[in-house]
Amino acid sequence: MASTDAPRRGAVKFVLLHHTACTGGGFHYYVSKEGVVAPMLAESLRGQHPSSIAVAVAGDFDNALPSEAQLAALRGLLLRLKRRYPAVELGAHRQVRGGRRTTCPGRRFPMKELAAWWRDEMPRMRDAAFAREFEEQYSKI
Ligand SMILES: [Zn+2]
Repeated sequence: MASTDAPRRGAVKFVLLHHTACTGGGFHYYVSKEGVVAPMLAESLRGQHPSSIAVAVAGDFDNALPSEAQLAALRGLLLRLKRRYPAVELGAHRQVRGGRRTTCPGRRFPMKELAAWWRDEMPRMRDAAFAREFEEQYSKI
């Protein structure tokens, strides 16, 4: 099913990555080639898949690589989503079972590298951001 106005049911379990060559629609966020993140659909609405936030990265990554600016913007967005949904996991559209076969977000998209960042580096960045906010909120007397 493509984009709908139906409310999302249940918790957000996955952030699913797509490229814009994906025909499914129903994207919550769009990451431009210049690295600008644009909201497309409220997170409270169902996107392409249930229980998921759909992020579309502009390009066809069966044939090209995303730009560094795109990947940097995407990592920033993923960090924000992980802070909002602490239990959320990162996935590629092609990992969804039961759908039509797809290579989305593209054969050349650096999914392994991004998954390693998500697992190893992102939690440290999240903790550092939390510590900064804590210090700002609770200043020394
Ligand atoms: Zn897709």
